[in-house]
Amino acid sequence: MNKENRHPLHINTKKCVGCVHCMTSCPTKAIRIRDGKARIIGEFCIDCGECLRFCPQDAIDSHTTSFSDLNAFKYKVAIPATVLYGQFDNATLPNEILFALRRVGFDSIYELSTICELNSAATEKFLNSHPRPRPFIASTCPVVVRLIQRRYPTLIDLIVPIEPPREIAAKILRANLPRVLKVKPSDIGIIHITPCPAKMVSINYPVSMEKSYLDGAISIRDIYKPVLQALRQSKDEAIMSRLFPETIFSGLGLGTALSGGETRGLKNRRTVAVSGIQDTIRVLNQVEMGMLRDVDLLECMVCPDGCVGGPLAVENRFMAKSRILRLVSLLGERSVVDDSDTNALYQKNFMSFTHSLKPVKATPLDADPVRAIQKAKHRNRIIKQLPGKDCGACGAPDCRTLADDIIRGLALLTDCPFMMKEKK
Ligand code: SF4
Ligand code: SF4
Repeated sequence: MNKENRHPLHINTKKCVGCVHCMTSCPTKAIRIRDGKARIIGEFCIDCGECLRFCPQDAIDSHTTSFSDLNAFKYKVAIPATVLYGQFDNATLPNEILFALRRVGFDSIYELSTICELNSAATEKFLNSHPRPRPFIASTCPVVVRLIQRRYPTLIDLIVPIEPPREIAAKILRANLPRVLKVKPSDIGIIHITPCPAKMVSINYPVSMEKSYLDGAISIRDIYKPVLQALRQSKDEAIMSRLFPETIFSGLGLGTALSGGETRGLKNRRTVAVSGIQDTIRVLNQVEMGMLRDVDLLECMVCPDGCVGGPLAVENRFMAKSRILRLVSLLGERSVVDDSDTNALYQKNFMSFTHSLKPVKATPLDADPVRAIQKAKHRNRIIKQLPGKDCGACGAPDCRTLADDIIRGLALLTDCPFMMKEKK
């Protein structure tokens, strides 16, 4: 598949009015406005979802796994992100949401908070056994990993090489379910439920393993209504689920839906938690300059306030955050994961990356280095010609990017209205 088609975000050209909000919000300058419509340049996109968040016309969709895709599997398991527990009112407990997920068509649900706690415990072990370098950077947010691969190649070795909770959970299921259920591994579909468009890409094109243990991802937006209906219809089940809770939840793990949740699970560590794409870029710039060396773990989440602010969530992040914090305080911060289990899995490298991360280089101006240098000089001359207003009226986010597009044959000098006026 070419780089353009890998991404889950698509512009609905019928709805797009060319207002440029997406273009100005994109942190990697991956959007252009051509003929009055937005267009995503796949090569530059890191799937952060900022464009989707900022589009006032609801013209950007994220393609995730559809319900009909689930029919390919005889046995369907959902692994919901803990953010899901913050999407419904305060009276709805996590157990009831898990019951409701069964009613919408899953055969079983794997609760993720315990694995989030396991992931933090494994990160702690990694930090203990690697006193240098500092700071290490958590790998849970796939957009941060992609951003580092593209923009900060010198920081790649600082990424903690431990798989995110969703992949660890799916790996545990793959190791056990075929034997327990006595079914073929290919009959089991394991689906993540997520507020994040980037998860689909991390499943289809994983960077730290050969193949993802997950079969797909359904957005919280898509599953919200059916779950809400199931919650309303299944009052008796809800009572049963409250009286006979069958799942153990981890307060520590549940808190990882919020920025700082992962670092909160670590003991005696110097940690920093950052959220939001612009602040993440600012802090990564500082790390690149050699700062933050007295920090053990840097947790960066590109969504505001962490995964709870994911663009495919339904509830506003402030309400969702308040509900999750309430659940964390109800559950307490007592550990539910046995340290000997973490130790055994850590020693076996069960949770570790199997492939090392590689930098992702941008396509050079020309395959021939001599011609590439000539083109770079030509681009610099064009930049000097352009007015330097970075107004976006040409359909590129700034004058420098327009010059780059002209050299790559994607735009014309006359796309700049000031140059056009001068020419006339
Ligand atoms: S934000 Fe982008 S996709 Fe949405 S209407 Fe404006 S130009 Fe089109
Ligand atoms: S998902 Fe992020 S990187 Fe990709 S086009 Fe949208 S704003 Fe830009």
